[in-house]
Amino acid sequence: MTEIQQRYLDMLAQLRGKGVTLVPVSKLKPVSDLQELYDVGCRIFGENYVQELTEKHEQMPKDIEWHLLGHLQRNKVKYIAPFVSLIHSVDSPRLLQEIDKQAAKNNRIIDCLLQLFIAEEDSKTGMDAEELPEILLLLPELPNVRVRGLMGIGTFTDDISVTMREFQQLKRIYDEIRQTQVNWDVLSMGMSGDWQLAVEKGSSMVRVGTSIFGVRV
Ligand SMILES: *Cc1c(COP(=O)(O)O)cnc(C)c1O
Repeated sequence: MTEIQQRYLDMLAQLRGKGVTLVPVSKLKPVSDLQELYDVGCRIFGENYVQELTEKHEQMPKDIEWHLLGHLQRNKVKYIAPFVSLIHSVDSPRLLQEIDKQAAKNNRIIDCLLQLFIAEEDSKTGMDAEELPEILLLLPELPNVRVRGLMGIGTFTDDISVTMREFQQLKRIYDEIRQTQVNWDVLSMGMSGDWQLAVEKGSSMVRVGTSIFGVRV
């Protein structure tokens, strides 16, 4: 058993029975690290960059669910549309329209999450809650995307009360919209530093990189 495998299996054990999907985030890590997890049963990986994602998809076995977490440019959607399982980072109506178009070309329906801006820092991307109604109204015209919920990144801080408030807010918005959406079943929140808190506050999907693979250089 390698350290990466051990940390992954420990985390899985901590999440057992909680109804939470663990997405190991393997950005900037070599495929040999991903293969270690694959060998102990992992079939989901999250990546941030389109080119890295397509390269790893080519190199790894074909029964893996690939998630895109990072900001996605519209002109790059075509490269991942043939195989991507879940796009966490939809942040505009025009991006969702492009995903629908490329999904149709590939005879696919692509699952997506809408990324909401919840953090205090300026650097984090995502939509404001006020922008949600507009994008939700578009959905009937976009048969090749299936929007399944929300994703958010909490503020990177030692002040747990800040992150807690952000997660509670995201969960509240998620629950509200869920009443009106049939495919709504994923709330993606929580990373290495705050996944326990996120699970406590109702996350159904955590994205964990550093705590499994070690620090990125
Ligand atoms: C990199 C990244 C993660 C994983 O971050 P860690 O702190 O290493 O767990 C999760 N979500 C998103 C959107 C990321 O970009």
